[in-house]
Amino acid sequence: MPLAHIIGAGMAGLAAAIRLHRKGVAVQVYESAARAGGRCRSYVDQALGQQIDNGNHLLMSGNRSALSYLEDIGARDTLISPQRALFPFVDLKTGQRWTLAPNTGPLPWWILQAERRVPDTKLSDYRGALSIFLASADKTVADVLDTSGPFYHRFWEPLTLAALNCAPERGQARLLRAVLAETFAKGEQACRPLVARDGLGPSFVDPALRLLEWSGRPVCFNARLRALVQQQRRVTALDFGDHTVPVGPQDKVIVALPPARITPIVPWITPPGEGEPIINAHYRLAEPIKMDSEVPVLGLINATAHWIFVRGNIISLTISAGGLLANTPEDELLELFWGEVRQALNLHNLTFEAARLIREKRATFDQSPASVARRPKAETRLRNLFLAGDWTDTGLPATIEGAIRSGHKAARLAARPTIV
Ligand SMILES: Cc1cc2nc3c(=O)[nH]c(=O)nc-3n(C[C@H](O)[C@H](O)[C@H](O)COP(=O)(O)OP(=O)(O)OC[C@H]3O[C@@H](n4cnc5c(N)ncnc54)[C@H](O)[C@@H]3O)c2cc1C
Repeated sequence: MPLAHIIGAGMAGLAAAIRLHRKGVAVQVYESAARAGGRCRSYVDQALGQQIDNGNHLLMSGNRSALSYLEDIGARDTLISPQRALFPFVDLKTGQRWTLAPNTGPLPWWILQAERRVPDTKLSDYRGALSIFLASADKTVADVLDTSGPFYHRFWEPLTLAALNCAPERGQARLLRAVLAETFAKGEQACRPLVARDGLGPSFVDPALRLLEWSGRPVCFNARLRALVQQQRRVTALDFGDHTVPVGPQDKVIVALPPARITPIVPWITPPGEGEPIINAHYRLAEPIKMDSEVPVLGLINATAHWIFVRGNIISLTISAGGLLANTPEDELLELFWGEVRQALNLHNLTFEAARLIREKRATFDQSPASVARRPKAETRLRNLFLAGDWTDTGLPATIEGAIRSGHKAARLAARPTIV
């Protein structure tokens, strides 16, 4: 029976594996680490004494591939979202608070009502969205927008940081367009924020691992692929250093590795460059806290941190494009961010019991126009080899949605019959 060999058990690899498994194709996943999930995982943190996510992950209800993957693994009900799209913000400099609440349907009539707009913005400011939609591939977000004024600072900048993990001066406008087209442009049903109720592992990883285990081929952990053995434009074996695995004439191979690991395996590809780190700070409180809003997420403006997430007694912060803070000592950052949390959530003198700072150095690829131009297609010059991963040419930014869509595409290609 033909086998699909999938290298990497991140979101892209797992999505490919589950799709193929559902199509009745036998799959074997190989993962270099001792656990699955890659950049999207939960783990038990020693400092906090409980399970947390490596980083806060926000999805949107318009993320159709991610939701379809969750359906496939029976975990769709593990995401929580408010009844309608709501994005609460606080400006720590001015103290202003507002909630972005798009309306149903694609026509954004909410922007006609001054009280629903971002504070201190005019209707004409919202025209910038058209420039994003018309941008050519070589333009950054900042290239096509008016970068002065509160709308840029309170909407475009935080949106770009959240979606592309880089400043608008660097991020490709077209990637932001893809996000807008699949979410805000479809109305509030497509832009409800979604978070994993019990964490990324229980939602995105564990149910998939269970399915693969039940299929009789559990993920092979601690298996680092070193090279692909090729013959006549086909992969004929997988080289894991201490052993090789033969790849049969009808077998397929999907390489779902991060860009920093691809060169030794697929040396003819020049992947996009490395992006900025994402920093996450997690604080454990003695008691769970409840937020005023329906969503356990709060956007920060005029702060070092960008988003606050609350899950029970854990408060977590996300700092996108955290390169400038690379050399700031951990204690200093934890103190700085905690001051912002207290102010944003009105926690007064509340203190935390324990804290953990995580710097994900290779969180996303460089999403500048020049780097995006290097994203490879899923098909390769080898007939039975396909690529997946958030950095491949999905048209989407480096997100769970992009990773899963890439996995689904690779699975579709790998499921086609082999022409010998
Ligand atoms: C802190 C942080 C916050 C984020 N926030 C969000 C968010 O809010 N919303 C969102 O949608 N996305 C977010 N993302 C992005 C999202 O996590 C990634 O886009 C997605 O997880 C990438 O999945 P992937 O499968 O493409 O790659 P990876 O997760 O990198 O998976 C690749 C896998 O391959 C394995 N591997 C590497 N080398 C080898 C080898 N030689 N042999 C075998 N296996 C190997 C790795 O160990 C890994 O498990 C965030 C990422 C980070 C780090």
